[in-house]
Amino acid sequence: MRGVARGMLRAALALAAASSCAMPSALVPAYQGSIGLPHAGFLVGGKELPKEGEGVRWRSAADSHFGVPRLIEAIEVAARDVAAQRPTGVPLFVGEISAKTGGRLPRHHSHRTGRDADLLFFMTTLDGAPIAGAEFVKFGPDGLGVDASGRYVRFDVEREWLLLRSLLQNPRIHIEWIFVAAPLEALLVEHALARGEPPELVARAEKVLLQPGDSAPHDDHAHLRIACEPDEHARGCIDNGPAWPWLAKSKPVVASTAEIIRAISAPIAPAPAPATSVVALP
Ligand SMILES: [Zn+2]
Repeated sequence: MRGVARGMLRAALALAAASSCAMPSALVPAYQGSIGLPHAGFLVGGKELPKEGEGVRWRSAADSHFGVPRLIEAIEVAARDVAAQRPTGVPLFVGEISAKTGGRLPRHHSHRTGRDADLLFFMTTLDGAPIAGAEFVKFGPDGLGVDASGRYVRFDVEREWLLLRSLLQNPRIHIEWIFVAAPLEALLVEHALARGEPPELVARAEKVLLQPGDSAPHDDHAHLRIACEPDEHARGCIDNGPAWPWLAKSKPVVASTAEIIRAISAPIAPAPAPATSVVALP
């Protein structure tokens, strides 16, 4: 009999480990904020990016724009910084962040925990006049792209660097990755060096900028992902990125057996219906 009980407990623990996170409930109120992994989690208490702010705007009302508050605020600060330094009147367009309660977003692999945001690229005409980048334009290694109307447009490396610099210097977010295509990363780093930016800042940019190997190359938008904060680990946030030296140190909290059993006995959310079309976007 004890063997059977032990077997059931082992199976329950395996189930808890496999599910990677538990729904917050009256029994597990500690799970709050960004819960679980970017590709297997959800969001409690997210904040919505306003539809239009100073230097920032939604790309589309059809997108979801909820995230952990510090991510939303960092995007607003960065957009304001760019607008203050280059007052072009053309905002940053923000694509998908997360749904109100997180979880699966159609066409995305991640974006489930309020720690991922798609930021469209700033762009100009060939003459350097800023234009609204509300669409996904693919830019090649020469920094040129063709918009939906068929005209050539230029990757605005100057404003894109200002945005990146503000995000990198924001003490409230710790960037885990910014997914962009490798040739665009090269343009940004070259520009930063030419501006005489501090070597430490450029080195950090080079580390977090990454063309992902397992999804779209990100030549038409930047995908920002931030790490959990130490206190968020205790509330269910799980990192799967590198332990960059600038990230605040904390040990992931391992749940006790009693907590896991309580979590298992909590109400289980219905499984989401499988998406009909999933493009491999991170
Ligand atoms: Zn994305």
